[in-house]
Amino acid sequence: MDLTRSAAISQDCIVDCVPVSFSTFIRVKKWLRVHRAGKYFGRFDCKRCLRRQQIPFLQAKVRNPAQFVKLGQELRECTEHMWVLRQQRDEYRARRNNLQPGELLLLMDFTSFSLEPDAEESDQRMMYVQDLILVLEFIENGHRQTEYVDYICDCPDSNTNDYHFVLYAMLLFFRCFYIKEAFQLVEVWTDGGPKHFKTKYCQWMWHFLSSSCFDGKLIAHNFFASYHGHSLADSHAAVDKRLLRAAYNTSELSRRTVSEEPISWGPSSAAALVPVFSENAARTQAFHLPSIPRNAALKPNIAGINLIKSKHRFEYAEGTCLAFPRTGQDVGMPFAFKYL
Ligand SMILES: [Zn+2]
Repeated sequence: MDLTRSAAISQDCIVDCVPVSFSTFIRVKKWLRVHRAGKYFGRFDCKRCLRRQQIPFLQAKVRNPAQFVKLGQELRECTEHMWVLRQQRDEYRARRNNLQPGELLLLMDFTSFSLEPDAEESDQRMMYVQDLILVLEFIENGHRQTEYVDYICDCPDSNTNDYHFVLYAMLLFFRCFYIKEAFQLVEVWTDGGPKHFKTKYCQWMWHFLSSSCFDGKLIAHNFFASYHGHSLADSHAAVDKRLLRAAYNTSELSRRTVSEEPISWGPSSAAALVPVFSENAARTQAFHLPSIPRNAALKPNIAGINLIKSKHRFEYAEGTCLAFPRTGQDVGMPFAFKYL
């Protein structure tokens, strides 16, 4: 028997059988799926980012020239979306890093909660609470400060997450936090919510706030790319939801105790949520809005803003309005609100 040869063979076998880590195994499997079949594209929350991965594979298979051109057009739009996504994200990071004293970086987003109403008042309906989250970042005494504000409302007839909610909360915010006295500039960042943020009414609101509540100083509204608005506001929403779950779990203790007290299911209204958030979440102030004013006169009768969907920054200062395709561009397009 050739001992040298059998030793070499067993050495090869050992090398072949070296166990790989599970993560490496998954990575290799995913790579093979992408490159062999061309069908696996991972997880995407954004349809455009997913299509950007899919279209080159579809173009390779398609035989109809018209279909090929149509896919090419879609691919260009998805690539444009990717560039907007990168530029807006980089600009947000740069502005956050270069924040100066007197500047307020204001992130805004909506979240919602469903609460179990009190057993005595209950008509078996869940109670839905809308929460407008504001994240304030500013420099104070040479240090970066981050504060959170929650405006929460459970009025079932008026608490829709739309322009009226944003307007009411912003009027309270500018007045109660002395924004005019404390800051020289406000940079607002939101997602492109078509119902509440990227609307002609919301833009008119910033124009109005700059002129009436901010001495004509600059208010700029920047938008993250569509479906990519994840930010500190989302992190704060997650904290709020964790606190709500913790309050529910604590109430379970009382439900397991035999007592004559009414059964508690944790916070059952927006008013009950205020202390839960204000006292337990770091650097957070929560305000309960009993209802949202919905007078039709609060919505000005104005014409739409030209190509509003393609804009990612609006500036309002000294009564003038400028629109920019992306944040970071030097020249904006002047526009005016046309009253009908
Ligand atoms: Zn995307």
